[in-house]
Amino acid sequence: MATSFVSKRAPIYADVPDEKWNDWRWQLSHRLNSAEDIEKVVKLTESERKALQKQDLFRVDVTPYFISLIDPNDPDDPIRKQIIPTSDEMEAFTAMMEDSLAEDRHSPVPGLVHRYPDRVLMLVTTQCASYCRYCTRSRIVGDPGQTFNRQDFEMQIEYLKRTPQVRDVLLSGGDPLVLAPKILEELLTRLREIPHIEVLRIGSRVPVFMPMRVTEELCDMLAKFHPLWMNIHVNHPNEISQELNEATDRLTRAGIPLGNQSVLLAGVNDNVHIQRQLVQDLVRIRVRPYYLYQCDLVEGAGHFRTPVAKGVEIIEGLRGHTSGFAVPQFIVDAPGGGGKIPMMPNYLLSMSDHKILLRNYEGYITTYEEPTDYNPASAAKFKGQKRFEPGQTGLTGLLDGDQMFIKPEGFDELHNRDGIQHRLKDENKWKPHGIGSGETD
Ligand code: SF4
Repeated sequence: MATSFVSKRAPIYADVPDEKWNDWRWQLSHRLNSAEDIEKVVKLTESERKALQKQDLFRVDVTPYFISLIDPNDPDDPIRKQIIPTSDEMEAFTAMMEDSLAEDRHSPVPGLVHRYPDRVLMLVTTQCASYCRYCTRSRIVGDPGQTFNRQDFEMQIEYLKRTPQVRDVLLSGGDPLVLAPKILEELLTRLREIPHIEVLRIGSRVPVFMPMRVTEELCDMLAKFHPLWMNIHVNHPNEISQELNEATDRLTRAGIPLGNQSVLLAGVNDNVHIQRQLVQDLVRIRVRPYYLYQCDLVEGAGHFRTPVAKGVEIIEGLRGHTSGFAVPQFIVDAPGGGGKIPMMPNYLLSMSDHKILLRNYEGYITTYEEPTDYNPASAAKFKGQKRFEPGQTGLTGLLDGDQMFIKPEGFDELHNRDGIQHRLKDENKWKPHGIGSGETD
């Protein structure tokens, strides 16, 4: 029989009445943020104390619920490392950036990141229930001075209305579930009024930091805006408590598909056995492991980084060793704004013109005999209208016949060698027949 999930309360909260403990507003207003407060729950190390005394450190705040999950006697506790700063945060490292994913560069209006063709990331608040020490958006998150205002929100809505290619809006921040319920509802209502927006998504760590926020009332409100999906953020099996189990149960009963995004963190979850337990516990609470991210090159997070190979090793230890739907995609979010790039072990060993050589998770090597009579011309035809992806068709555009090559910036100018227009230069000579007409299928 599977073990049951824990429910913990640090000794200093023993006398708090259940009514208060289970009230998310009480949790928010009793967050811990100073060395003096935190020391009442865990004995701080010198490094932690030093960091907590630093003035301009990325914001610290931890809900009583979440800090209670820490083993106070373990300086290596995986939850402790995620939320209590250490002096390692102050160390600079090569390639560190303030905005490593160049999100602000991809923002046509403040707080709206339009990186991919058909979806946007909408940053609706800079506030969170607790603050993760490795946060990718530490440049804005936690800073009340950076909060998005109504004027920003109206500009975001206006942009979405005039951009019909967007069919999927991800609300994030900060954490949308710390917004006042009325504001969140208004936001979702305004988005639902835009006809071309098909799917709404919420990215939230609130169910993990403060599961009591996931009330029946909240779930009923969210259910009015289907299809609505949610990704939560759990990094270690110790974060999966009885309270989180109940919160995800309420969300799934409200018809909200749940996924999990986690970050690969040195000293927290950089171990295949921890990851296997994490993904198996997640599916037990009906949350599908979605992404495992390589830690970004963000200021303050240097000590959390692992080699990319560690993530590949973890996927090697998951794929085939546990249920397929429990295996997340391991992702490097390309520095500079290149977007998400999946990484995995190499299962393709070699190929010939009619056969491929594969290996499985056990090292079993096999061949797959390919058809020799496949006729691409009789492939299924798409009868609908192709989606418009201006400038972003990329490699699929090459395969689909939209264009024949992708050239680095300045390629044509460079190869012109400052030459003159002469009798041998005729553009039509290098125009590939039948490619780029836009009528390929
Ligand atoms: S919950 Fe998300 S946005 Fe908030 S601090 Fe953690 S990683 Fe950053």
